[in-house]
Amino acid sequence: MNEMRIFACLAFALVAFCSSGATPARAQSERPVWMNASISRLEGELAVKYGEPARAGARRGMEQVASFWRAEDGDETAFESFVRANFAGDTATRDAIFERFERIFDKLDGHMHEIGMEMRRQADLDIGPILPVDEIFAGYSPAAHLGDDFFANKIAFVALLNFPLTTLQERIAGGERWSRREWAEVRLAQRFSRRVPASVNLAAAKISADAEAYVSGYNIWMHHLLDDAGARLFPPGMRLLTHWNLRDELKASYRDAENGPAKQRMIVRVMERIITQTIPRAVVDNPAVDWNPYTNDVRPAAVKDAGVEPAAAPTNEREPDTRYATLLSTFKASRLVDPYSPTAPTLIARRFDESREIPEERVHEMMVQVCSSPLAAKTAKLIERRLGRALEPYDIWYSGFRPASARSEEELDRIVAAKYPTPEAFERDIPNILVKLGFERGRAEYIARHIGVDPARGSGHASGAGMKGGTARLRTRVRPGGMDYKGFNIAIHELGHNVEQVLSINDVDHTLLQGVPNTAFTEAFAFLFQARDLALLDLPVASDETAEAMRALNDFWGTYEIAGVALVDMAVWHWMYDHPEASPAELKDAVIGIAKDVWNRYYAPVFKKKDVILLAVYSHMIDSYLYLPDYPMGHLMSVQIEKKVKEAGSIGPEFERMATFGSVLPDLWMKNATGSRVGAEALLAETAEALEILGKKAGR
Ligand SMILES: [Zn+2]
Repeated sequence: MNEMRIFACLAFALVAFCSSGATPARAQSERPVWMNASISRLEGELAVKYGEPARAGARRGMEQVASFWRAEDGDETAFESFVRANFAGDTATRDAIFERFERIFDKLDGHMHEIGMEMRRQADLDIGPILPVDEIFAGYSPAAHLGDDFFANKIAFVALLNFPLTTLQERIAGGERWSRREWAEVRLAQRFSRRVPASVNLAAAKISADAEAYVSGYNIWMHHLLDDAGARLFPPGMRLLTHWNLRDELKASYRDAENGPAKQRMIVRVMERIITQTIPRAVVDNPAVDWNPYTNDVRPAAVKDAGVEPAAAPTNEREPDTRYATLLSTFKASRLVDPYSPTAPTLIARRFDESREIPEERVHEMMVQVCSSPLAAKTAKLIERRLGRALEPYDIWYSGFRPASARSEEELDRIVAAKYPTPEAFERDIPNILVKLGFERGRAEYIARHIGVDPARGSGHASGAGMKGGTARLRTRVRPGGMDYKGFNIAIHELGHNVEQVLSINDVDHTLLQGVPNTAFTEAFAFLFQARDLALLDLPVASDETAEAMRALNDFWGTYEIAGVALVDMAVWHWMYDHPEASPAELKDAVIGIAKDVWNRYYAPVFKKKDVILLAVYSHMIDSYLYLPDYPMGHLMSVQIEKKVKEAGSIGPEFERMATFGSVLPDLWMKNATGSRVGAEALLAETAEALEILGKKAGR
C-alpha cells in the first residue's frame, strides 16, 4: 500500500523536490520590465565568451530562471551577475555542477527522509500510546522549507540555468534518444519545476497527516458485530482496519463453507454503512460497544475485551460525514499548491503528467479496456460454476482462483506465527526469502543488509532510504502471538517494494535517476513477490497448466475490480475540481453517484445487479490523492514483468536488471524490461488463453 517515496510526494513534504514537471510559462507581462533586455544582452555576451554553440543553451537557461524570478530575488544587476557567475559555458564546468547536485541531493534526500521518519516514528509504529505532541511531530515536515531555501539562495536557479526543463510531451517525443546523463539532467531540472512557498507546503502536510490519522485509526472490532439472531460470527480480538483488512477478511471467508457467506454479507453491510456514513460514530475503533450493522442497533458490549469497560449508554448517532470532510480537506490541500504549479495546475495534472508520466487519457483508456472486456463476463460464468450460485456484488473480491492451499486460514496463521513471532524474526529471514525468489545468496545478503523491519500501527508500509547506503524500512503488523497470515502476505508485498528501493538507489548509475518511473512500477514488483507467498512458507504450490491459468484469472479478476475503483477515484477528483465549494454531504452524494455509475456501466451487466456502491470503500480515496489508478496500472505492468521473469526462469537476476534502470519514462522503462511499452494487452491475452485452457478441461 503506502510507499514512502510516494508519501514524500503525497504529503507535499518534498513537493519542490519530487515534482516532475513541465516548464512553467509565466506570462511575459509578469516579468520585471528589465528582464527581456537583460536576457538578450547576456545571450550575446555569453555567445562571444563561450562560442556560438552556447547561445541556445544560454537563452533557454535564462528563460527558465526568468520564469521563477521574483522581485525579492534581486534587480537587473543581481540577475546579470548571477547568470555571469553560474552559467556553465564549457563542458568541464557543466560536469562539475552536475556532479555537485547529484552527490549533495542524494545525501539531502536521504537525511531529510530520515529526519521525517523519526518525527513520525511514534505515530507510525506500534510502540505505545500516541501523545498529542507525537501528532504535532508527525505533522511537521522538515523538508518543507527546502524549496523556498533553494530558490532564496539561488541553488534552484543554478540548476534551472544549466539543465533543461521539459514537458511530458517533450519527454515522450525525445526521451528514447537521450543518454543516461541527459535523463539525469532532466530529472534534476524537474525538481525545480514548481516554486511552492513553505507556508503552503506546511499547511498541506498538516492536512495530509490528519487525513492519514483518520484512515489509520478506522478499525472495526469484528467480535462485537451481531447478526439479527444476536450471534457473533467473528472471533474475539479481531480488529480490522478499513478497508484493507475488511476486504481481506471477506476474501478469506470464501474458505469458510459454514459461515463464509454470512460473514461476507455482514462485511458488505459494514462497508456500505461506512460509505453512506450511516455507521454509528460510536462503533469506530471501539470494543466497548456491540453493533448490529443490519438494524444499526448499538448497545454496551456484552463481551469484554481485556481492559475495556463496556460503554455506559452508547447511541447510534451516525458519523457526521467525516469521511468526506477528510477527502475534501485533501482536495483543499491540493488547491493550495495549484497556483504555484503553472503548467500542472491541478492535482489531476500533477498525478498523471508528472508523477505517472502517462497521460490521463491513456490511463483511462487502459482501465476501460479492462473493465469493458468481454472476458469479464466469461470469467464471471466460470466463478458462478465454481461457487455453485449466481454472483453477488461482493464477488468482485472473489479469491477462489488463488492457488488453493490445502490449509485453513487458522493453520496458515499458526505456521506464520511460529515462523515469525516478532518483526525481528522476519527481518532475520529476509536473505532466505530472497534466495527462494531466485536472488543469488551474496546479493540476497547485500539487499537484506539495507532493510530494517518495524512493527506498524497500520497494515503495512515500505519506505525507501532516500540515499545510497541508507536503510529501507519495512513496517508490518505483528500481533502479540506472532505475525498472522494476512500480515505475512502484506509483509511480502512490502518486501517487494523494499528490494526495489534498495536496488534502484544503490545500484543505479545516476542517483538522480533513483527509483522507478512511477509508483505503479514498484507495485508491480510488490505483486511479483506477494504472488509467491505460499511458496515462501515452503508450502506446496501447484504449478501445472491449470494452476497457471487460475493464477492468470486471479490477476484479471483483481485488475477488473480495481480498475473500476480507479475510475471512481478519477471521476471523484474531477467532480471536486468542478465543484470546489461542495460540502461533505454533497461530496458524499457525488461519490455514491459516481460509484453507482461506474458499477452500472461496467459491472452490472456482468453481476446482473444495479446501483452497487462498494467501489467507493477504498480508504486510499480518502487520504492518498488520486493514488488508486496506480493499482490497476501495477497489475498490468506486473503481468508484463511476470511474463518476462517466467521466460528468464527466475525472479532475482531479472528483478535486478529491471530495477536498476532507474526513473526514466514509463514506456522506456517497460521496453527495457520486457520489450513492449506499458499496456493491457499482455493481461488480456493471458486471460483469454487461461479461459481457453480451463474451457478445454471442463469440456473433456
Ligand atoms: Zn504496495
